[in-house]
Amino acid sequence: MIIDAHLHTSGQETAADVLHSLDDAGVEIAVLLAPFLTDPYTLADAASLRDGNKHLSRLVRGHEDRLVGFAVVNPLHPTAADDLEHAVTNLGLRGLKTVPTGWYPYDDCAHHVFARAAALQIPVLLHSGIFIDGRSGRFCRPTFYEALRDHPGLRVTLAHLGWPWCDEAIAVGLIDLINGVPPAECCFRFDISFGPPPVYRHEVLHKALDVLGPELIQFGSDRFLPCSGAHIRTAVDEVHALLTDLNVDDSGREQIMYHTAAAWLNLENREKTLEHK
Ligand SMILES: [Zn+2]
Repeated sequence: MIIDAHLHTSGQETAADVLHSLDDAGVEIAVLLAPFLTDPYTLADAASLRDGNKHLSRLVRGHEDRLVGFAVVNPLHPTAADDLEHAVTNLGLRGLKTVPTGWYPYDDCAHHVFARAAALQIPVLLHSGIFIDGRSGRFCRPTFYEALRDHPGLRVTLAHLGWPWCDEAIAVGLIDLINGVPPAECCFRFDISFGPPPVYRHEVLHKALDVLGPELIQFGSDRFLPCSGAHIRTAVDEVHALLTDLNVDDSGREQIMYHTAAAWLNLENREKTLEHK
């Protein structure tokens, strides 16, 4: 089984499109991010993000077993924490995704949003490393996220292994392990939605696996919907090829492709809660 823990919506896709592509790709469950990188949705405009969260809410409704919707807010907006709570409590979204653009993860505005995420007990996905806008990389250094340890219990995924600061990202993740925290309870895990250009990937994944182990690494395609299942599948196949090169056994593969994200998303407890309702 595969969880794609990093899949972007654009605002153009339908639930039928998405499920069809996931079936073709052999992906069981997808973490869908509300649109924020495709017109008219932008991190600069709080109203557009609210619209994006609403779009995602409609998309995932009735398909919660396979589609996990993550709201996007920008901590620079004074309404960000309330918008997040509304998206989770009223719109059925189940996590937070954001990118530091013009704010640092240790800023007061960011703590305000992360505190709300902790209170809502939702998983968080954060961009880390250089960013596509060519301007915000300096806000996204992995060590800046150490500030999230101020919110105990928060389960965070740092995307792209922090490329080009992969060593820094791995060091941030290692601290909990050194302190004896079980992987599923660690503050940070890392997605290998690349991130590093192809020539770096073998080395980066080798180091991450050696230092952090499969339990802190999860698969994400970082594809943009609507797209074909084949397009998602190329990301799956590339990771499998790397894992073969690195002699990762079946249980390590299943951990990376499914179980790390399942623990982060708290899927097992969610199933138990639903059964008791
Ligand atoms: Zn992405």
